[in-house]
Amino acid sequence: VIVLDELTKEFPADPPVRALSAVSLRVEKSDYVAVVGPSGSGKSTLLNTLGLLDRPTSGGYRLDGIETVSLKDGARTTIRGSRIGFVFQSFHLLPHRSVLENVMLAEVYGPAPRAGRRERATRALERVRLSHRLDFPPGSLSGGERQRAAIARALMGDPSLLLCDEPTGNLDSRNTEAVLDLFDDLRAQGMTIVVITHETDVSDRAGRRVRITDGVLTEE
Ligand code: ATP
Ligand code: MG
Repeated sequence: VIVLDELTKEFPADPPVRALSAVSLRVEKSDYVAVVGPSGSGKSTLLNTLGLLDRPTSGGYRLDGIETVSLKDGARTTIRGSRIGFVFQSFHLLPHRSVLENVMLAEVYGPAPRAGRRERATRALERVRLSHRLDFPPGSLSGGERQRAAIARALMGDPSLLLCDEPTGNLDSRNTEAVLDLFDDLRAQGMTIVVITHETDVSDRAGRRVRITDGVLTEE
């Protein structure tokens, strides 16, 4: 459960850039929220804040009952690693590693033990229905399969919150459908999903849509 309370984010400049302005939002477990709005309106800043990559200038952010704003960097990193997965428009898969190895690499810099890594990656790839592609290089996969591999990588660590910035921006409509079907599966398993998107296919499938305009969030 996400609770944002009057969250404001300013970037230092003269005058400061106010990217988010007193944003309040509550997102329940298993919700699928689409975030829409023009370029430069604050969508990625919101996602980075939800992902504990950015600290707000003021306001509160409670995640699963934990008030995150006052936490030290180390504690924020731990929460990020154990509760949050990220998916981006470009898949960032290493071309000379297999799909399975790419997913295993998600844990290289984390606290997860080495033992069982291969099994965890295999399971994550089962969840995205890529069990038949474990040993393939990413370059031999379709765009939709590559994004599913990137989602499998985000699922390592078993997050409860998936944050996606234009996840289908590089996909055709058929592959977009496959990713959206996968989001439905993950929600049925209890995943909360927040997706930035310009595409109506993606926002139409969401339970909720919020719009950001000049840093101000409104529910639609
Ligand atoms: P797009 O749809 O183009 O990706 P966006 O809605 O994701 O846009 P943000 O990236 O959140 O927009 O940016 C919101 C505002 O904050 C913009 O005016 C941007 O220039 C500014 N901004 C973002 N990051 C920084 C930064 N690190 N330093 C200074 N200003 C920033
Ligand atoms: Mg953006």
